[in-house]
Amino acid sequence: MTTRTPLMAGNWKMNLNHLEAIAHVQKLAFALTDKDHDAVEVAVLPPFTDLRSVQTLVDGDKLKIKYGAQDLSAHDSGAYTGEISGAMLAKLKCSYVTVGHSERRQYHGETDTVCNEKVKAAFRHGVTPILCVGEGLDVRKAGDQVAHTLAQLDGGLKDIPAEQAETIVIAYEPVWAIGTGEVATPEDAQEVCGAVRGRLAELYGQDVAGKVRIQYGGSVKAGNIAAIMAQPDVDGALVGGASLDPEEFVKIVRFRD
Ligand code: PEP
Repeated sequence: MTTRTPLMAGNWKMNLNHLEAIAHVQKLAFALTDKDHDAVEVAVLPPFTDLRSVQTLVDGDKLKIKYGAQDLSAHDSGAYTGEISGAMLAKLKCSYVTVGHSERRQYHGETDTVCNEKVKAAFRHGVTPILCVGEGLDVRKAGDQVAHTLAQLDGGLKDIPAEQAETIVIAYEPVWAIGTGEVATPEDAQEVCGAVRGRLAELYGQDVAGKVRIQYGGSVKAGNIAAIMAQPDVDGALVGGASLDPEEFVKIVRFRD
């Protein structure tokens, strides 16, 4: 059986400037022990403008905290004002980049096709995509959460070969649970995360499906993470609001305690 190291990633969204980012990562670094890092991979996803400062701190102090970005361009360079390329993220040694976060899909009209281009762009530059999928409230009320999420998964993974797919991270984030305090039940999370792994097995085989980490995201806190992590197909969390409080985030990382 494959053992998947859980990934706890803090999506800071548009919060914390580069000075605040340094203070925040220092607090995390001070609190996290080698035991924590052996058990769980910890990553922060700051705004673009913080990445260089975070990199300097992580490199300089040889921290085990990983970092990445919240978005990237589908293009590698050129006349795309305001965009940031995968090559730029790779140069800053980003490990991860989220693709298709529901706020990008909702406010910036990102379609599955765009997400697929961004997944490919991330892989071209050796940055691991965290592909975000998940249904809105209307879809959930209609009971179509699995079909909806799997369609997003299929779209995001189109033409992605198995050797890349096995390294991707999928974040199942029901949109109605993001930033609302409305957390999915552990059973809700498992239903869709299990279906995601099943589809990965159909697309790439059991071996690949067994390697892919599937996170849950949506109002994760120290108080609800243990029950969510107890589900067999949940391999970590994408944490928004609660990741802005270093003490709370460390408690989430220590979900087993
Ligand atoms: C997110 O931004 O991906 C998220 C899950 O936010 P929150 O934890 O605040 O619901």
